[in-house]
Amino acid sequence: MKGLAILGATGSVGLSTLDVAARHPDRFRVVALGAQRSAAALREQALRFRPDVVALADPGAARELAADFAQAGIATRVLAGSDALSTLATLPEVDFVMAAIVGAAGLPSTLAAARAGKRVLLANKESLVMAGPLLMRAVAEGGATLIPIDSEHNAIFQCLPHAAGGRAGVRRVVLTASGGPFRNRPRETFRDITPEEACAHPVWSMGRKISVDSATLMNKGLEFIEACHLFGLDPVQVVVVLHPQSIVHSLVEYADGSLLAQLGAPDMRTPIACALAWPERIASGVEFLDLVKVARLDFGEPDLERFPCLALGQAAARAGGLVPAAVNAANEVAVAGFLAGRLNFTGIAEVIESVMNKVTGGPIGSIDDVLRADREARARALEALP
Ligand code: NAD
Ligand code: MG
Repeated sequence: MKGLAILGATGSVGLSTLDVAARHPDRFRVVALGAQRSAAALREQALRFRPDVVALADPGAARELAADFAQAGIATRVLAGSDALSTLATLPEVDFVMAAIVGAAGLPSTLAAARAGKRVLLANKESLVMAGPLLMRAVAEGGATLIPIDSEHNAIFQCLPHAAGGRAGVRRVVLTASGGPFRNRPRETFRDITPEEACAHPVWSMGRKISVDSATLMNKGLEFIEACHLFGLDPVQVVVVLHPQSIVHSLVEYADGSLLAQLGAPDMRTPIACALAWPERIASGVEFLDLVKVARLDFGEPDLERFPCLALGQAAARAGGLVPAAVNAANEVAVAGFLAGRLNFTGIAEVIESVMNKVTGGPIGSIDDVLRADREARARALEALP
């Protein structure tokens, strides 16, 4: 029986994780659930899964939930504040931590889980983008296991050799990209794209921030950086290929010419179940793939002029050091500005590029360096908003 903490429990990945865990009550016990401020959603989850403890980053929402639990006689403890998310990640009863908070807010709890030697199921790609070398070191030193949940990276994880020393024959990895909702939209209309259009992904159903990232292809830029850190690759060993059907989730190319792919229906419950049970395999509730119905798989080259955010992400990966943290922060501010109606769609790349042109960069010495780069880039991005 493995104790499970789900950070970001009320989000898209959090809900899919609970769905998989609920199918295997003999294997997983939900010990802790955390979120930002959705007290009502967390209350429902607590009633169903009876965790020992829940946490809300927002103190007001946590107070409300604690009062409600006391009145209803629910024994689950309620913790408050951002630090409480890290507390959940390090509880001795917790074996596996699902890191599914969105954005830079997920970094402290992800690091805490790694340092505590947990199995870290990493959906929060932003933490690797910001602090890749620090997080990978924390995993190694903490004796943690890091299993990627991002579907592309989980596919690569599945296709890589798992025997010790087996990486030698790996030549490159191929990240697939659906191309998002605007793959074929006339470019001169990009300025008119609304948040609702950007959040309506043709294949995946996700939270709003990652949906916008998928529409600008910044998501693939972040995933490019994520792949370099996770698998210890040089940026020249990571190739991005457009694949609109999102059936081939990514591939690993070997020295002998073999290309190994992982295929499946586009449903996050597959990578989640893979990471929860690894190296075993368990049912996930995902529909099985009917290749005859799929019939064809298309591949193409991404258009970097149409989607400059992908090029910016790749440039950040090549620059390394603190540049990815700055790009991630600028992207978070720009996306929030777009969702709030302050910035148009094409402005997202412009804001990120203007911040990137001004960042000091330099190597990552400590977490404080990363947090400073994050703060500076946010301030610059806010200045760049119209
Ligand atoms: P979401 O917006 O649906 O959910 C985000 C969750 O994080 C919510 O539970 C929210 O309460 C919590 N949260 C937000 N800010 C917080 C804070 N400051 N403190 C504590 N909790 C906070 O997002 P999502 O789509 O589930 O994505 C979560 C992460 O997984 C992102 O990093 C995303 O890039 C990654 N991811 C998601 C998918 C997907 O299919 N949704 C696929 C791959 C990777
Ligand atoms: Mg992905």
